[in-house]
Amino acid sequence: MNKRILVLGGGVAGSSMAYYLAEKGYDVTVVEKNSRVGGLARTCYYSGHPYEFGPHIWFWPGGKDDPINRTIVTLTNDELFHIDRRLFTYVEADGRKYRYPVHYQDIDQMPEHETIHRELAKNRDGGLRLIEHQLPELGHCTFADYFTAAVGGTLYRKFMANYTWKMWNIPGDALETSMVWADRFHHAYTKTGEQSSSRGIVGYDPIKFEDHTLGKGIRFQVYPKGGWNAVWNAMVAKSTVIRDRVVGIRDEHKQAHVLMASGEKHYFADYHTVFSSIDIDELWGEDALPYTGRMMIPLLIPGLAGAFPEGAESLHYSSCEFQTRVTEMKVITRHESPDTLILIEVPVLPGAATCFPANTIDYALEHNLFTEKAYPQQSEQAFATYHAYVDRGRKIPNLRHVGRHAEFKYWGMPETVNSAYLKALDFPPV
Ligand SMILES: Cc1cc2nc3c(=O)[nH]c(=O)nc-3n(C[C@H](O)[C@H](O)[C@H](O)COP(=O)(O)OP(=O)(O)OC[C@H]3O[C@@H](n4cnc5c(N)ncnc54)[C@H](O)[C@@H]3O)c2cc1C
Repeated sequence: MNKRILVLGGGVAGSSMAYYLAEKGYDVTVVEKNSRVGGLARTCYYSGHPYEFGPHIWFWPGGKDDPINRTIVTLTNDELFHIDRRLFTYVEADGRKYRYPVHYQDIDQMPEHETIHRELAKNRDGGLRLIEHQLPELGHCTFADYFTAAVGGTLYRKFMANYTWKMWNIPGDALETSMVWADRFHHAYTKTGEQSSSRGIVGYDPIKFEDHTLGKGIRFQVYPKGGWNAVWNAMVAKSTVIRDRVVGIRDEHKQAHVLMASGEKHYFADYHTVFSSIDIDELWGEDALPYTGRMMIPLLIPGLAGAFPEGAESLHYSSCEFQTRVTEMKVITRHESPDTLILIEVPVLPGAATCFPANTIDYALEHNLFTEKAYPQQSEQAFATYHAYVDRGRKIPNLRHVGRHAEFKYWGMPETVNSAYLKALDFPPV
């Protein structure tokens, strides 16, 4: 039996795919364009302070015995910090922060509180529960429609309209909820045991009525002591990792192979399975799927210990500032230093790399501070394009896809690892 597996891309998806199959005795080769594996979740250092591009915290339901959580427990020897995610939103017009998600109890501190209460009452009963049949159906309406109905126009404009626009580079009245809700939200919704009616997903309440940390109810929210790299390195320890860049599939009808930037060709016929975790359009040497990008600006501030309020890890910025959020890394990493590392997240658009001096972009790419493709922009049109690529790939029977980019999902690390875990179940031990 041919035991050879080729994995394209060594990020979260590629590393975990390699891990689960190598554990079963397969002979795995990973091709990764960067000098280190881990993709967006690789831990880097600025002036000795650890940080990741954005994926810092692992959160997945269940305890340590869940097979996905167990993978992280095993690979870290259970050396994990447990995180209580406190977030705030800064509202420039009010000159102050509020808890995130929006808390009902905070409304009375807002200058427009009377209007907000009046608007909130519109689609809620006497107990302030949303009246579902008065709401549009998530997945079949725009962001502006749903949130205006659920929280009223004033709260929507104050906390969501500009944030959503800069997050996706799409105004809320043009942004379909099907985009980000397409899979991630639906999964989260059904996971909590709440009902999704015959109308689909309705009744999601963005307002919280009791103290609500982000991901409340998910017990397993962790960050590995010492950062993520030991996890990704351990995942590929039994595999061969080659540094090269995938250029694209060639000769798909006859001698299908993957061409590398080095000129190397990997023929599909030589492998049991080829798993691709890179952007599915890039696998075909094309650039057709929409993404929004991010740049992270590390700001080392001498001193300023505990800069953020009440142990918060992040502040969201809901006005028209460039940044969407800033994160105080030490709250997550527990790095010991009198100084403070703030990571400022700024959305960028395709082509942004050409707007900065080459040395700063080279540095940013090498240090995981910049990517033009961070968030898949899911829409019906984008899904149609995605599925056309999946159909095209079916001609190559041993080609499979895994991960956020290859499966075009709005997934976090655990969903990504879960996808690899489930795919590995199809493979018998050898
Ligand atoms: C700002 C931000 C914040 C986030 N925060 C969280 C969080 O707190 N928690 C969480 O769980 N998730 C978070 N995520 C999601 C997380 O980043 C993804 O779930 C995860 O990185 C997906 O793994 P992946 O392997 O699919 O992609 P990636 O991690 O991007 O890996 C893809 C890999 O493929 C390589 N590659 C790409 N093209 C080629 C090529 N042509 N040739 C060779 N190699 C190639 C890349 O170098 C990379 O190593 C966040 C994402 C963003 C953008």
